[in-house]
Amino acid sequence: MTAIVGERVVMRSVGAWSRALCGGVTALAIASASGCQKAGASATPSESGIVIRYEAPASPDRDNAAFLRKWKVAEEAAEAVDALVDVDRPVSLVLGSCGGEGSAYDPEADRVEICYDEVSEARELFQRAEPRHADDDVAAVMLETLFHETAHALVDVLGLRTSGREEDFADQFAALMLLRKGVSGERQLLAAAEAWRLSAVTNEDVDSGTDEHSSDSQRAVNHLCYVYGSASGRHQNLVGADDLPADRAKGCAREWSTVRASWMTALGPHLREE
Ligand SMILES: [Zn+2]
Repeated sequence: MTAIVGERVVMRSVGAWSRALCGGVTALAIASASGCQKAGASATPSESGIVIRYEAPASPDRDNAAFLRKWKVAEEAAEAVDALVDVDRPVSLVLGSCGGEGSAYDPEADRVEICYDEVSEARELFQRAEPRHADDDVAAVMLETLFHETAHALVDVLGLRTSGREEDFADQFAALMLLRKGVSGERQLLAAAEAWRLSAVTNEDVDSGTDEHSSDSQRAVNHLCYVYGSASGRHQNLVGADDLPADRAKGCAREWSTVRASWMTALGPHLREE
């Protein structure tokens, strides 16, 4: 048995966006429960202490695995984290078939596990709303997931003190890493927010009572708040009853500033000089 911290998926509805449930420290037998295939794995060392490994996909995941290799979001996440943080203990970033489990961080193995099937889940979520959706929205969602899970790894490996709930802190790291990219990252964070909004609609924002995350709709609004707060002059269109409520928007500049400072303070001694 191996202790897992991070996302473990509970399928809320068949084919639905379903990466959200996180049971905190949950005992799971990885090898039997995940169905991940270990054969044919290939390792790609990044410049950092983060080592990327693509496992051979189960046949339903072939297109998803090919998508992730093509878009190189794992490589981008590893390089971006390495540029900011000196990760002094090797962390594995493993992409594989998870048999319905969800992406997660395994602190016993210092391993981030990203599930191929979340590519098609994100795609279905967007396609239900807009049949001619763009691949880059799906890639954006996967990049947000990669940063979220890597945040759990940083908290564990570097012994970071979290600000508030770790799940919210991890979402905030994803926002930080995307917004550091500038306009392209803003667009990606907005795509991730849209995925959370669509998930809330599709899944009626079911609250299991055991989920340590904020609800999907809260996660959507939080991301909108961070985008708006980081550059409010460019995002007045986000403010509205169906998106970012006006009352919340008023405090987003301060909120984003606090979020950013919390992460930078936590990372303090581990930050690379820029
Ligand atoms: Zn998490």
